[in-house]
Amino acid sequence: MNDIVLKAEGLYKVFGRGADDAVKKLRNGASRDELGGATAAVIDASFEVKKGEIFVVMGLSGSGKSTLIRMLNGLHPQTAGTVEVGGDSITGVSPAKLREIRRHRISMVFQHFALLPHRTVIDNVAYGLEIQGIDKAERLKRAAKVTEIVGLGGWEEKYPSELSGGMQQRVGLARALAADTDVLLMDEAFSALDPLIRREMQDQLLELQQELGKTIIFITHDLNEAMYIGDRIAVMRDGRIVQIGSPEDILTNPANDYVEQFVQDVDRSRVLTAESVMRKPRVTVHEGSGPRAALAAMREHEISALYVTKRDRTIVGWVRDRDVLDLVRKGEKSLTPAIQSDHGAVSKDTPLVDIFIPSLEAALALAVTDERDRLVGVVPRVTLLATLGGEPEAATSAEPVIEPLPTDVVDKVLGASSTKGDA
Ligand code: ADP
Repeated sequence: MNDIVLKAEGLYKVFGRGADDAVKKLRNGASRDELGGATAAVIDASFEVKKGEIFVVMGLSGSGKSTLIRMLNGLHPQTAGTVEVGGDSITGVSPAKLREIRRHRISMVFQHFALLPHRTVIDNVAYGLEIQGIDKAERLKRAAKVTEIVGLGGWEEKYPSELSGGMQQRVGLARALAADTDVLLMDEAFSALDPLIRREMQDQLLELQQELGKTIIFITHDLNEAMYIGDRIAVMRDGRIVQIGSPEDILTNPANDYVEQFVQDVDRSRVLTAESVMRKPRVTVHEGSGPRAALAAMREHEISALYVTKRDRTIVGWVRDRDVLDLVRKGEKSLTPAIQSDHGAVSKDTPLVDIFIPSLEAALALAVTDERDRLVGVVPRVTLLATLGGEPEAATSAEPVIEPLPTDVVDKVLGASSTKGDA
C-alpha cells in the first residue's frame, strides 16, 4: 500500500560474537540470556509506519529503542530482517546510497542538539540543505521559512550559545524539517529539556504535524510523552516489541501484565477521549415525535430527560419529563415547546480533561457528536468518574442526572389521554 512510508520486518540486532548464530537460536525460541557473549538489542521487530503519522517507540532505558531506530536509517546494519523506506529496501545498499537516503529520505533529530557552534541559527537550519547540494538562495529561503514555523523568527542571525536549551532544540527540529525528508526520526529529542519547555515542544510538534503532515518516528522512555504525541505506539521490552497500538488501545487493552503495569500511572484524562468512554444513548426521540411518544419512552427507560434529534441524528436539543408531561396534559401535538437547545454536546475527539465542566453542567449524560454534529454517544457522569479512577468497565449504562418523575404520575397522564401512536 502506498500510504506506508516505512516498513520493518523481522528486524534483529545482535551485538558481539556469533550474531547470526544468536538470531537462529532466538528464532528457535531461545531467551536473551542463552546467547553466550552476544547481546540481542532488538529481537524480531516488525511494524509499518503510515504517511503523516507520529509513530512512537517507547520503552525503558536499554529496551532497544535507539538500536531499532538506528537500523531504520542504516546507522546500524541489521543482523537480520529488512527495512523499506518509500518502497525501497535499505538492506545491503552501498554506503554512498545510504548517505543519500539519510539526506533525502530520513532525517534525524538527536537529544543533544548537535548544532554547529560557529554558525548562525539560519545557517544551522540550512545545513542539511547544503549537504543535499541545494544552492544558497534556495536553501536560505527554505531555512527562513521553517525557522519562522518553529517560532524562531527574529533569531536567524544569533549563534547557538546565545539561545536557551529549548530554542536550541527548535533549531535542531527546524534543521530536520528543512531537509523535507519523507521520514523524521526523533531520538529522545525532548528528553533533555526542562518539563515546561518540553510540554511546549510537544505541543509545537503536534501543531507542526497538523500543518505539515510529516511522518515522524519518535523515541521516548516517557510514557506520558508517548501517549500525548503518538498516533500509535510500539512498546518495547527487552529488545522485543510487546504491543503496537493507539494510546487508547494500549491504555484500555494492554497486551500483557507488563504493559498494564506500565500504563498504570498514565494521566488518563489527557489520553482518553469522549469517544473512548461514551456509551450508546439508551433512547432518543426524533423532533417530529409527539409529547406522548417522548414521555412513554422516558417512562419505559425510567429516565427524566432525553435528547431530541433530527432524522440524520444531529442534535436539536433535549427535553425534560415534567415539561413533556405538561404538553401531554395540554393536549399539545408538538414536542417543540419543551425542547431546550442548550445541549452542550462535545465532539468525540475531546480529551476527558476537557469534558469535566460540560459534564457537570449538562442536565443529562453529556452528548457526544461526530464531525458532522451527529449524536454518536453519551458520557454519563458516573462513567467519566469511573474511567478516571481506572475502572473503564465500572459503569455501563447512560443514567440521567435528574430523578425521573414517579411512574404512576406519568401512567395516569398517558392513560388519561386517549390519542395514541403519535410517534
Ligand atoms: P534504549 O535506546 O532503549 O535505551 P539501546 O538500543 O541503547 O536501548 O540498547 C539496547 C541493548 O543493547 C542494551 O542492552 C545495550 O546495552 C545494548 N547495546 C546497545 N548498543 C550496543 C553496542 N554498540 N554494543 C553492545 N551492546 C549494545
